[in-house]
Amino acid sequence: MVAIRVGLPVPLRRSFDYEHERPLAPGVRVRVPFGRRVLTGIVIEVPADPVADVALRPILEVIDAEPLLTGEQLQLLRFAADYYHHPLGEVLFAALPAGLKHGQGAAPPKAYRLTADGQAQPATRFARAKRQAALWQAIKVAGVMTEGELKARGPGLAPALRALQAQGLVEECEAGNEFVPAATAPAAVLRPDQRAACAAVAAAFGRYAAFLLFGVTGSGKTEVYLELLAEVLAAGGQALVLVPEIGLTPQLVARLSARLGPVVGMLHSGCAAGERARIWSAAAAGRMAVVVGTRSAVFTPMRHLALIIVDEEHDPSFKQQEGFRYHARDLAVWRAKHLGVPVVLGSATPSLESYRHARQGHYHLLALPNRGPQRTMPAVRLVDLGRESSRGGLSAPLIEALRTRLARGEQALLFLNRRGYAPVLLCPECRWHAPCDRCDARLTVHLGRQRLRCHHCGREQAVPAACPRCGHPKLLRVGEGTERIEEALRRVLPDARIARVDRDTTASRRAFEALLRKVHGHEVDVLIGTQMLAKGHDFPHVTLVGVIHADQGLHGSDFRADEQLFSQIVQVAGRAGRDEKPGLVLIQTHHPTHPLWAPLTRLDYEAFAEMALRDRRATLFPPYAHCALMRAEARAPNLATRFLETARQLAADPSDVTLGCVLPAVLARRAGYYRAQLLVTSQRRGALQAWLKVWLARVPEIPDAPRVRWSVDVDPYSL
Ligand code: ADP
Ligand code: ZN
Ligand code: ZN
Repeated sequence: MVAIRVGLPVPLRRSFDYEHERPLAPGVRVRVPFGRRVLTGIVIEVPADPVADVALRPILEVIDAEPLLTGEQLQLLRFAADYYHHPLGEVLFAALPAGLKHGQGAAPPKAYRLTADGQAQPATRFARAKRQAALWQAIKVAGVMTEGELKARGPGLAPALRALQAQGLVEECEAGNEFVPAATAPAAVLRPDQRAACAAVAAAFGRYAAFLLFGVTGSGKTEVYLELLAEVLAAGGQALVLVPEIGLTPQLVARLSARLGPVVGMLHSGCAAGERARIWSAAAAGRMAVVVGTRSAVFTPMRHLALIIVDEEHDPSFKQQEGFRYHARDLAVWRAKHLGVPVVLGSATPSLESYRHARQGHYHLLALPNRGPQRTMPAVRLVDLGRESSRGGLSAPLIEALRTRLARGEQALLFLNRRGYAPVLLCPECRWHAPCDRCDARLTVHLGRQRLRCHHCGREQAVPAACPRCGHPKLLRVGEGTERIEEALRRVLPDARIARVDRDTTASRRAFEALLRKVHGHEVDVLIGTQMLAKGHDFPHVTLVGVIHADQGLHGSDFRADEQLFSQIVQVAGRAGRDEKPGLVLIQTHHPTHPLWAPLTRLDYEAFAEMALRDRRATLFPPYAHCALMRAEARAPNLATRFLETARQLAADPSDVTLGCVLPAVLARRAGYYRAQLLVTSQRRGALQAWLKVWLARVPEIPDAPRVRWSVDVDPYSL
């Protein structure tokens, strides 16, 4: 009997060993007893140091003949578990598509092709066996078909397949790399800056190099990706393309498929489990040439992976914010380095981390400084809310600009990152404002549903008719949400066709897409929406963009607030003037003299980065320091704080790391939990990692630990 170490999807920081009659390869799925349950697990290794002093329980079943996870993937996942200090079992399962987590659909898939005899048959041979005829025809056209692809053609094909095999017309084969790129859309003639970018990356095929492709929306980054992907495919390689949002994936996949042929697969949280498993297996076998996916697609196994692209690399959604808190862009760079392939990070507003890497020469900077002809960037102007009159959140200059566009038959977009009608319900008599009883937050007034709603925990309640404290009958709705801006717009522009896009009006993707079609069809004059509108959608007739409130970003308590505001404004500005008509962006602010506005109104990323990097250096935040944040929350007041204080004292004498104070979280109480946090920083990544390892091993010993929900976030996106 041999001891086998198995990764299990349980949040425990320890190893689980079982015994089996022979060694098993890492990456094979097994079924094992766990307490009174039976769990699916993944073989990690044959341990050199099996868990002693307990009798090992036996592995009940070996699910896969061949490992489901490749060696390369296992190395990536082990690194990730180590670096993010997360239990390996959970990390392994985070990488598996839902369809494969519980032991179904073992890979590699069976595949079939016609034998020489099968090729030689006339179609008439199957006249009386319709299913056999259809199957024979399908395999003949496709060359090779996997079992999954055959099954997808309809039920009841298994007997027909067996019959064809019995006649010696069809045989099993390996699902190989049989795609042929069939171009259907012509390639653009690249501009010199695009050609130079392609040439630089192409020169690095076959080895690791990281590139920062820096260019505004519409500067032609996607065309550069297309050219590189075509080259990779022509050489028989595979490529992984990571994108931030589900919403944008289908558009990009359509564009890539139009150029590269039907070799592009899509992986995101909206895909059905079976579909995810199918693409995953096809990619693993080398049959899916290009995989486009959101965050977790970084773990896709690809036998011939030759290029990784991360589009909008600065986007916060690449960082998983709960559980296994990895950063997909950072893991993509690690994976490229480890595999020895180039990685391209694209952005109009690179993260300061990536930008600094480029300045230090770790990444090659590839700039696309221009939009194509007829695609100038819009003018950006501030509106001083302290001086201009305004109605329901709309300032006079903004209303004036809206009227002009309307008269000219052009479209406008208004942005406001706040759903609902008003963020506060206030009593003018006693200053009571409607609080959430589970969070340190105010309830937002939603008029459409006539409810008060907490945007942090989701709790809803009726709008009170009078002040619950003093009985005053007229409560004030203070501040603006998207609903109120819509109402104000309808009042000042009664003839305009207005649509609102936020999670309240367009919860489903289909509703969102239907609305986008209306905008494209010019059935809408003014579109009001939250940030979900800003990303990647091309609105050729929009010539005016209004930002209703930007001030939250100026005074954010978080070290990344400025970076986030800058990238959002640039994104938003990218929506205007994409056609021959020049665009205008109006930003309403109460703080027109804030230093961030100077680079912002010029849309000058480099000037912004200079300024922001100076700040980060002075305050010792990333990229000048590396951070880890321990968060804790508990139902009892002060328990989380006490736990973190104890953890802080447990810390080994820190010479290379700086321990912050235990502080309440920005939202100190959420959904009934009191929350606190402790920041650890170091100027050396290695020192922080080594220190965390020692420290975290001791944290579970803290007496309060079982009563506290705690976690560690390495390289937190925000504090
Ligand atoms: P980005 O990805 O930077 O937003 P895209 O690659 O989508 O930019 O390019 C924006 C638009 O310009 C697209 O419609 C694209 O087809 C077009 N385009 C990009 N490069 C060229 C080029 N060299 N010649 C002609 N059109 C181009
Ligand atoms: Zn009152
Ligand atoms: Zn709440």
